[in-house]
Amino acid sequence: MPPCAEHSLSSHNPHILGCPECGESVRAAAANGEMADCPTCGRNLIRVENNPYLLPFVYALTALAMLVPVSFGFFLSVRMITVAERLTLPGMMHALLRQDYSFLANAMFLLTFATPLFFLILLLYVLGAFIQNKNRPFLLPAARWVLRLKQWLMVDIFALSSIVALIKIKAYAEVEFGLSFYAVFIYALLLFRISQAVTPHWLFFRAAELSSTHIHLDKEHNIVYCHRCFFRQPENSTRCSICGTYILFRREHSLTLSTAFLIAAMICYIPANLLPMMITSDPTTVVVSQIFDGVLTLWRNKDYLVAVIIFSASIAIPLLKIVAMIILLLSAKFRLPEKISAHQLSILHRIVEMIGRWSMIDIFVTIILMAAFSTPIAKVEAGSATIYFTLVVVLTMLSAYFFDTRLLWEKEKENASIF
Ligand SMILES: [Zn+2]
Ligand SMILES: [Zn+2]
Repeated sequence: MPPCAEHSLSSHNPHILGCPECGESVRAAAANGEMADCPTCGRNLIRVENNPYLLPFVYALTALAMLVPVSFGFFLSVRMITVAERLTLPGMMHALLRQDYSFLANAMFLLTFATPLFFLILLLYVLGAFIQNKNRPFLLPAARWVLRLKQWLMVDIFALSSIVALIKIKAYAEVEFGLSFYAVFIYALLLFRISQAVTPHWLFFRAAELSSTHIHLDKEHNIVYCHRCFFRQPENSTRCSICGTYILFRREHSLTLSTAFLIAAMICYIPANLLPMMITSDPTTVVVSQIFDGVLTLWRNKDYLVAVIIFSASIAIPLLKIVAMIILLLSAKFRLPEKISAHQLSILHRIVEMIGRWSMIDIFVTIILMAAFSTPIAKVEAGSATIYFTLVVVLTMLSAYFFDTRLLWEKEKENASIF
């Protein structure tokens, strides 16, 4: 059945949706190549690409093909006085497993291989249905997983980490890049471009229509808005009928979860900074360095750029994220700070969500260095801080994820009505 004009999807006709950030209802529309933002908080609500189905499909297919050179080509070769090592990405993971760093090997495997692979396969499935204009089994669950996995794509961070690692390696050894090294950059760019094209409201609009799920578009009373797909739902619903997420009506839940993850992150932040991050050894010396020592050494060696990158990613960003989440949670629980609006706090939350992943740089750099230097002549080992550090990154991401910004807007209204 062809889509009727009212629901025509390559262009979103005017309809009412709920802004996930401030909770206001917005009447929005977007044709191909257009965007619609929330007039209250400025959050982007609908974004439709010029060529919304075919182009992301081609990108996703190309990205999937790039996985072949990424996985099987050699990543870099490191030559020291007598030893030369040619490294592939799977080989690097193997090296980690051999050295008993299964936690790091698993983290690297999940974040740089498994997540993008499942993301791409599911996206191709969903976009294929869109292009054919046909429903397919499990279309909505597939769309849900596309969005979930999208948040955990870290190939771009891995690509930047390779450059940082490379600058560090160059100080000790001769380095040569392989096909896989360049392929990772193209792969990262493609994934970045694809994630821009895949936006929640757009994706669920089309998927819901193809699977004939009822979309509440008409004027109705007693509705709530879903924070993930922004569609209206009947007031008594606990799960969204379109994207399947829990309707965050029980707001207490959001603050409790967000606070719990934040406290866990704060606890892990202490050993992450105090325990050794990296242990470097050659036949004569063994150097144990914490995160901060690492930055100082880089600075002394005049690697200013890398020192600044590692300092921001490993020390400044996690700390700022923790402080920002404390401010957000206190504001939502008690009252907004003087002269700071819900709008500004929402922007702070957006920033926390955006920069969260970049803290993984130092972990990936350590992993690459470990794989590059695994001979008795020069050996790099990960210290126990890496585990706590990875936990800090993941826990703060979860804390930000569970925080419901609509609470800030409600608090603002509440405060305004008191004074
Ligand atoms: Zn809004
Ligand atoms: Zn939903």
